Amino acid sequence: MKEKKKKKIDWSLDRGWQTPQILPYQRITLDPTVCVFHYGFECFEGMKAYKDARGRLRLFRPRINMERFKKSAARVALPSFDSEELLKLIAEFVQVEERFVLLKEEYSLYLRTVLMGTSGGLGVTAPTSALLYIVASPVGEYYGEGYSGISLEATNGSIATRAWPGGAGRHKVGGNYAPCVAPEKTAQSHGYQQCLWLFGDDDAITEAGTMNIFISLRVSKSERFELVTPPLDGVILPGITRDCILKLAQEKLEHLGWLVDERKIIMVELAAASDSGALLEIFGTGTAAIVSPVEKIKWGQKIIKCGPSENHKAADLASLMTAG
Ligand SMILES: *Cc1c(COP(=O)(O)O)cnc(C)c1O
Repeated sequence: MKEKKKKKIDWSLDRGWQTPQILPYQRITLDPTVCVFHYGFECFEGMKAYKDARGRLRLFRPRINMERFKKSAARVALPSFDSEELLKLIAEFVQVEERFVLLKEEYSLYLRTVLMGTSGGLGVTAPTSALLYIVASPVGEYYGEGYSGISLEATNGSIATRAWPGGAGRHKVGGNYAPCVAPEKTAQSHGYQQCLWLFGDDDAITEAGTMNIFISLRVSKSERFELVTPPLDGVILPGITRDCILKLAQEKLEHLGWLVDERKIIMVELAAASDSGALLEIFGTGTAAIVSPVEKIKWGQKIIKCGPSENHKAADLASLMTAG
């Protein structure tokens, strides 16, 4: 990691937000009783800065990150903020760190924005002081060479549930992530890289690892194709990459006769599509992993091969979506 500086802003209930500062990367000193350590009063955002073909700095759809960050903060009783002001600060920070934003395909500056409660005392109450900071790190290709797609182990409530209706799974709050790591280690001990998180008795597909999931298939008894992603029904993180893929697909695929759907899809349907040859491809989406093809999914004793079918290469959909 090559973080060089961080941007820091303190907040307290009686004084509000203090003057933001850009400081050298450094440690944070906090009292052992602060609420973030004990009860997880924390939320975050992940976004990227790029340089465009003309070398200008660009943030990728950052207003959506700011709005999502605000909702996450509200869910865990952290203070609100003016998202346009925060965006200005992030833009200023990126300007200062411009030399780390490489003008090279697949390279970007990853920005991690964190908000945490810093009041102490061990009471489970709304934080009366908070700290917001941003650290940055240049990132390149997410997967190395020779990479052929990720493998997933379908994980349902008999092992672990990532999110549930009314819970906090739709928000980027720190408490959602640690409980997913032990199940992921279990999947890894079986030779799979990440969990495909299922929900409910019918094994509905929700997300994979920390990515939203897309499935393309041939509609049964028809010549039409469909791109499906599970709906934002409260157990799914509303990914910004997900939203981009949906918009692109509507623009590029619908006029070619494709159906682009946000709908519930269960493992039985996926397995049947795979068995009948109707399954074309599966991919995950997220800011860090961008678009990641899925190679196979283990569901109970069944292994579902997700690689591209004979007459449909993984690149087909990607090239359809980026054409024009
Ligand atoms: C961040 C995240 C995503 C992807 O969201 P993007 O906005 O596309 O980066 C998906 N699932 C989870 C659980 C996440 O935390």
